[in-house]
Amino acid sequence: MEDQQEIKTGNILTDKFGRSHSYLRLSLTDRCNLRCSYCMPAYPVFLPHKNLLTSGEIYTIASTFKKLGVTRIRLTGGEPLVRPEFDNIASRISSLQLPLHLTTNGYYVDEHIEILAAHFKSVNISLDTLKKERFEAMTSRKGFERTLQNIELVLKNKIPLKINVVVINGVNDDELPDFIKLTLKYPLEVRFIEFMPFRGNQWNTEKTFSRANILQRIESIYRIESYGQLPMQTTEDFRVKDAPGSFGIISTVSKPFCEHCNRLRITAEGKLKNCLFGLDEFNLKPYLNHEEDLLLAIETAVKAKHASYGGLDPMFDGKATAQYSLNRTMTSIGG
Ligand code: SF4
Repeated sequence: MEDQQEIKTGNILTDKFGRSHSYLRLSLTDRCNLRCSYCMPAYPVFLPHKNLLTSGEIYTIASTFKKLGVTRIRLTGGEPLVRPEFDNIASRISSLQLPLHLTTNGYYVDEHIEILAAHFKSVNISLDTLKKERFEAMTSRKGFERTLQNIELVLKNKIPLKINVVVINGVNDDELPDFIKLTLKYPLEVRFIEFMPFRGNQWNTEKTFSRANILQRIESIYRIESYGQLPMQTTEDFRVKDAPGSFGIISTVSKPFCEHCNRLRITAEGKLKNCLFGLDEFNLKPYLNHEEDLLLAIETAVKAKHASYGGLDPMFDGKATAQYSLNRTMTSIGG
């Protein structure tokens, strides 16, 4: 009987293409203290607080997915550290004994450093520029120095650190060598992310600085070596010879990796998105007190997953941009 139950739950996270999903990204809020234009529209409308999953509901979702086979959880936003109950939520999820990761803009890291050091396997800090004026232009907010100080704080606490850089052609592509310099000095990974289309972020193909362009720019200055990409990894990893740090490229637009996708996302109000770009959403909130119904809702969502890009046409040639603009804003998904 026990075996039958295990077989049943063991298949729930496997989609019709045979991809099994072991990585859950949980958004704690759609709010953020910054206003990056690629992530948030000029006049954002946020969810009312009462619509957010409670910390108890978030724990129920995390523990259910653990039971189904998830082996890694990432807390995202918006900006997860603006959620007042962040420490409490993180502590509860950490009791599940799963590797816990965080994606943040870094601004409030100092206020949570003890919890991060105690419970998190790694921290990703989004920082798209190393120039103060440009930071303020790109985020429409101040906070550059504090973010840099918090990067040092994470390093000082020996928490594995990745810096996420969305590379936008003509905006910050000139800073690739400066980011590479960080990898020569510190044991961190810089991840260059191709600019992708979301609702309200004014994406077009010309603004995407492609993987090929990123590599060409870096190789024109540094001798680099590739150390590969695991099947379920979104990042292709490289390093400058003998550097303590490394860099990666996430080429969602020009060289997608959907074939091995193992990710599922939960929005801050409890909708399961089986793909970052798909328009399909599956509301889990009504089922959180009924395990059987919850498992059925999760299974339905996973089995409905499309082969790539949530069933939308490829994004690289820009012909399907209108389809992508029907998706949520990035801040309301969690990236
Ligand atoms: S586009 Fe969708 S299916 Fe492809 S890797 Fe991203 S989340 Fe997975």
